[in-house]
Amino acid sequence: MMGTLIHCLECNAIMHMTEWDLLPHYAWDEEEIREVEQDDRKAFLHSHRDHIKEKLTPLTPPISDKPYTEPVKTCYFEATNGTKRFVIKKWRTKIDDPFTYEIIDGSIELTNGTVQAQTEAIKKQLQAEHAPFSTEKKIPFFIQAIHEEVETLDPENLEVSAEGKTPLVSYCQLRSNCVDRILTRCQDNFNQHELNMLRDFINRHNEYDGVMTAVATKKFTIKRRDQQGISPHAVRAALRSVMPLP
Ligand SMILES: [Zn+2]
Repeated sequence: MMGTLIHCLECNAIMHMTEWDLLPHYAWDEEEIREVEQDDRKAFLHSHRDHIKEKLTPLTPPISDKPYTEPVKTCYFEATNGTKRFVIKKWRTKIDDPFTYEIIDGSIELTNGTVQAQTEAIKKQLQAEHAPFSTEKKIPFFIQAIHEEVETLDPENLEVSAEGKTPLVSYCQLRSNCVDRILTRCQDNFNQHELNMLRDFINRHNEYDGVMTAVATKKFTIKRRDQQGISPHAVRAALRSVMPLP
């Protein structure tokens, strides 16, 4: 979503300059496509024509706890005006509304949350494959071994093999030493032939977002810097005192 944002410092309004703003929009009109006059950029620049504006450049991809495909959601990204870094909040309440932007004086803090095995999906996959070892009695030992091993994984050292539905979720391939440890945990309950089949099962489903990959979920918070409570009027007055406008 890169591009540039124009920030009116006096109104604290933000316009995202995308190529789309300059392209004509089209609409169906009595079974004909017609061009709609809709130059959002021109409209914004016109209504803030005498105001002091600055350019903001996005620095990070938008982050949200909602799926990428969810059109109505709030997301956050960091942007800079060249000297300072801000958080930009972007949202809309209806699918056909334009996006609204708000500047937040702060930063996005990403933290490693949890790492989990896809235990339910593994059970279903084992049942679907009717593997000889997947008797009612033995499956729980295998699942427990995976669960215990994945719990010990350090989120910092995982290899992401696929992105999840939201920017906070990713699938991570289990490394070979981790697979070895899972099988070691299974040694007391499975014979060598079964262990070979378990290894084969793990290897077949340990790619991309396969059932054997671990699911890492991050968390994010918006850390606000101390708010001084400056009103747009105060900003306007301060700016005009140093930068007189016509
Ligand atoms: Zn303005």
